[in-house]
Amino acid sequence: MAVVVVIDPGHGGDNLGGNTDEFIEKELTLKVAGYMRERLSQYDGVEVYLTHDNTTDPDLTREERATIAAEHNADFLFSIHFNMSEDHKLYGSEVWTSAFGEYYSKGQEFASIEMEGLTGLGFYDRGVKTRLGKDGDDYYGIILQAKKVGIPAVIIEHCHMDEDRDADYLRNKGEEAYKTFGYIDADSVAKYFHLSSGTLGVDYSNYSYSPVTVPVSAMGPDMTPADTCSVKLLDSDPEAGTADIRITAKDAESKMLYYSLSYDGGKTFGKVWPWNNDKEALKPVDDDSIEVKIDLMESTGSELVVKTYNRFDRKADTNVISLPAKIEVKEEASDPATDPDLMQGSDEISSNEEQMDSYDTSESGNEEYAEIVIKDPVREQQNISSTMLTGIVMIISIAALFTVGYVVYLTQRRKKRRAKRRKRNL
Ligand SMILES: [Zn+2]
Repeated sequence: MAVVVVIDPGHGGDNLGGNTDEFIEKELTLKVAGYMRERLSQYDGVEVYLTHDNTTDPDLTREERATIAAEHNADFLFSIHFNMSEDHKLYGSEVWTSAFGEYYSKGQEFASIEMEGLTGLGFYDRGVKTRLGKDGDDYYGIILQAKKVGIPAVIIEHCHMDEDRDADYLRNKGEEAYKTFGYIDADSVAKYFHLSSGTLGVDYSNYSYSPVTVPVSAMGPDMTPADTCSVKLLDSDPEAGTADIRITAKDAESKMLYYSLSYDGGKTFGKVWPWNNDKEALKPVDDDSIEVKIDLMESTGSELVVKTYNRFDRKADTNVISLPAKIEVKEEASDPATDPDLMQGSDEISSNEEQMDSYDTSESGNEEYAEIVIKDPVREQQNISSTMLTGIVMIISIAALFTVGYVVYLTQRRKKRRAKRRKRNL
């Protein structure tokens, strides 16, 4: 008997889903679902249906979507989505499953295959999660309604449309991005159901994945942030403008996902970074501590606070630590008009100075000027070369004096000899 798969393109009609200036979620979900059906239909022993396609644009309720899946006798319902976050800082892919029984275990098994595909494309692994409503049942309507008609369902949040690290993929790849997502989704389904395709020349009949035990109670999410978290300054290099810090966060129920930095004591925070020693990492580490290099600010009085996010985006702030200021090379230090040393400088030196100026964004003078002048490697080099130059000039002068003296001596001696010879000849 054929496997029956129903694909649900998220949103539709007046329900746009998330939308930015560039992307409208309901359009992206239709594209991905179309490619997913196209690809999956090429496998043997599978029937593929959509809850709606691009011929009409209905705003289906979750219940209607689940009913369509039930009418087709679906083995699984896959709901296709794209993400956005409130502060537009989060990035990466995630899959949501039911928290209950077989709906949980099947969802988790499929989701681990799907996440492998998405991280393989370069998206950050936000994990496979469950969410419960106030009544203790599944929070997401499509998962809840599918469960009510006996069908396991997952929500695939492919990536974030409102964060550059993800959105750049959509911008750069265009239509190819939706095709790639659709194909990844289809191949993940094929792996999960052990399908093969003569047309595509792939055989997943022996594909193996880790089985997930059917839980006896609800596998609810972690509702609380890290129990304790702290930050420690390990080392700082004000001239390089960097510091090494260790961030520690302990959470009994879940691991960490991201961190972000505040330099004003916790009032404002910057980008979120992966919970990993490597800022480019696609998966968070399970460790309680990470060590990362951060930038120092130019102004003094930076009060660093780190916000930690657990795998369910629950946030907690660390203690405050004071950071030294970055030491900047000031414009005045390299102004040839007021700097006699540099007026004698070679071309090489002045081009180095130019490079340093381009990093200097501050406008006013700096009391640390005197200290910087001494520490400036270009200037030290300059001092060394002028000392050497003086030495060489002195050596040449002395040699010249000797040569002149010797020539004079030789001339004198020759004159004397000629005079003597002349005398003898006379
Ligand atoms: Zn959505």
